[in-house]
Amino acid sequence: MLTELTLEAAVSNGWPLPGAAQLYVEGDLLQPQGEEISLGITYAPLLNSRGAMTNIIANVRDLTRYREEEDLQRTFISVVSHELKTPVSIIKGYAGTLGRPEADWPLEVLQEYSTVIEEEADRLTELIDNLLEASRLQSGTFRLEVNSDISLDKLAADTIRRFENQTVIHEFKLDFPKDFPTVCADERRLVQVFNNLIGNAIKYSPDGGLIELSGRLHTDYVTVSVRDFGIGIPDHEQHRIFEKFSRLDNALSRKTEGTGLGLFLTKSIVEAHGGSIWYSSNGPSGTDGNQGTTFTFSIPRIC
Ligand code: ADP
Repeated sequence: MLTELTLEAAVSNGWPLPGAAQLYVEGDLLQPQGEEISLGITYAPLLNSRGAMTNIIANVRDLTRYREEEDLQRTFISVVSHELKTPVSIIKGYAGTLGRPEADWPLEVLQEYSTVIEEEADRLTELIDNLLEASRLQSGTFRLEVNSDISLDKLAADTIRRFENQTVIHEFKLDFPKDFPTVCADERRLVQVFNNLIGNAIKYSPDGGLIELSGRLHTDYVTVSVRDFGIGIPDHEQHRIFEKFSRLDNALSRKTEGTGLGLFLTKSIVEAHGGSIWYSSNGPSGTDGNQGTTFTFSIPRIC
């Protein structure tokens, strides 16, 4: 069913009028399968020698992708401006307080405030890096810089070391077999993958708990899993969770900072390496996933 299209209305109002022969209308077409597509239709009248309309030529254009791009652009601007504003205003507030000319802050306060400033600056850097990567993916200029001897177990251990300083309520466990083989990979990008998955594991298990990183060996590929015991993700979100700017609509997502870009970039990076990524709920299948989540990605062993 076409909504908003007004050809009939235009005709009943006397269209085609002399001098305004073409009529352009836009609307959404609901397809029988329930999918909606956006259309732009230009109607042009076919007139006989006496100037009476004998037929109408309709030129139909599918505007769905254009509309999606517009929506994405709007989401991009609101997400980015919100996410950039928060760390900038925190940095400004703390720096302003520290710089008050009359203040004589004790050393602990100086240290605490400068730690906050540093953490917020790191958050800004991470956000800007993610945005740059997303725009490289969009423009087709995303290139891997591959090295042949990347140790995933070492990257996992390094990432844990970095995150351990940021939380006291989580416990980390590393479970990789001895002599885990090296792979051909872009080290900087895989660090981003670990950062995103472990960052999420922490962020979405607000009551703390175990976060386990494990590696497994298969004939043609290796897998790495990040397991948490947090709020979980329902299984049916599988198709949506890796999309650009997609955040689940639960209380925690609404409260926590995030752009919904992390998993999109993570998936793009893993796939650029020829691997894949998926998640599963730690609970029995069919539950709502509130027993934590395990994200697993694979990387081919052969260069
Ligand atoms: P962000 O964390 O910035 O919102 P992501 O793309 O990294 O974006 O994740 C998308 C959404 O997936 C999150 O908003 C959250 O709702 C959900 N999510 C990701 N990882 C987890 C996890 N380990 N446990 C529960 N929910 C998660």
